[in-house]
Amino acid sequence: MVVHDAITIWQAVLGELQLCVPKPSYDTWLQGTSGGSFVNGRFTVSTPNAFVSEMLERRMYSVISQAVEKVIGDAVQIAFEAGPGAQEASSRVQPSPGRANGQAQTRRPSPINAKYTFDHFVVGKSNELAHAAALAVAEKPGLRYNPLFIYSGVGLGKTHLMHAIAARFAMVGISPIYATTEDFTNEYIQSIRNGTTDAFRDRYRSADALLLDDIQFIIGKEQTQEGFFHTFNALHLSGKQIVITSDRPASALTLLEDRIRSRLAGGIVVDIHLPNYETRLAILKTKSEEARLTFPEDVLQILAEGVHSNIRELEGYLNRLAAYVDLSGRAVSLGMVRQIMSDSHAAGRPKTVSSNAVLSAVADYFALTEEAITGRRRDKQTAMARHVAMYLLREEVNMTATAIGRLLGGKDHSTVLHACNRISSQMDVEPHLRQDVFNIRASLDAA
Ligand code: ADP
Ligand code: MG
Repeated sequence: MVVHDAITIWQAVLGELQLCVPKPSYDTWLQGTSGGSFVNGRFTVSTPNAFVSEMLERRMYSVISQAVEKVIGDAVQIAFEAGPGAQEASSRVQPSPGRANGQAQTRRPSPINAKYTFDHFVVGKSNELAHAAALAVAEKPGLRYNPLFIYSGVGLGKTHLMHAIAARFAMVGISPIYATTEDFTNEYIQSIRNGTTDAFRDRYRSADALLLDDIQFIIGKEQTQEGFFHTFNALHLSGKQIVITSDRPASALTLLEDRIRSRLAGGIVVDIHLPNYETRLAILKTKSEEARLTFPEDVLQILAEGVHSNIRELEGYLNRLAAYVDLSGRAVSLGMVRQIMSDSHAAGRPKTVSSNAVLSAVADYFALTEEAITGRRRDKQTAMARHVAMYLLREEVNMTATAIGRLLGGKDHSTVLHACNRISSQMDVEPHLRQDVFNIRASLDAA
């Protein structure tokens, strides 16, 4: 479908939404949006900024997806993107000309964020080692630090460094494969299904380097570990650089097979610690310059003081503040900053979800009764809904398997465990299931 269709569709969706969303919310969040594209069953919506995208995704996903479904007549996946569709094109590293023929072109490269470069990376005590190792690898791939394994808590710059390496490679004509472990897993499983494992192997083995992000997601996936192990060995033997990130230290990846773990430990392992106040402030300054925001120093100081553990969260506050200034038309003030930080603390606090809420959300979503879910029916749809309910009761309500079994009409605790684990591993390879669970969570959130 061509682009103007997406625009027209979204106009109609907005019409629907005007009828069912309270006016203040509509004016604040939906007014400035437009239809982006509608390709392969995926509808993208352009929003004014990342903050609006986040709010629409977190708070209004289900109502929007219902409206879209009404207009299109079919359920589609919806994505919100800041900026008028520009992001997508500019943020992808193009495959180098040397490879731009044949099969390499049939697959879209994973997105590389053009802002994640070494120039935009603030170096402080917490990350200087990781930064130095990444830089060394970017400049002399395959020589000294191979594999390079970077780990840290969430939101501390691993992906940023990895993209910075990829960008450097692109400048000197080295074609790496950058993949999240999720991409890698999906692609590998797909190749097994389609009987194209040879093509998979050739593609990975012909890369100049492999950058694999978030390897912790490989835990428990034996088949994928096998695929990874062979890919890794082949590349490593031929002196190709490998970079891997994880949000857990290699030694703590206890569920990985020993042979993979010892390979990882054979290179260099660097970690990123929590940034101190000076580093946080410096990062805020860099980010505001990048976004052309001019906030006074004392405003940035308050933000830097308030957030300790996660740079992504720090950036989130900066974006919220920018959106707030935009939407309210008022000049930024310290009071406003404090307000935003306390608002989001309240909003970010984990909500307590009741087991009844989960049961009724799951039943609603799958158009079943709660009795069906707690009962004994075993048709496919009911069994699926029951498994999802078990999974969400564990993840969202923190119930034990025994308690879940009791609530669901006296099921054995091992049955419950098995179901939860199955859902969590299927979500990794089945986008539909992931979307279902996401939607149910969103409806719990919005309740
Ligand atoms: P991780 O992969 O460790 O979860 P990311 O690399 O996604 O974290 O970083 C989260 C955000 O924080 C990104 O927007 C990134 O640009 C930013 N960030 C992290 N560390 C730095 C740094 N040292 N300098 C500038 N920005 C940083
Ligand atoms: Mg990351």
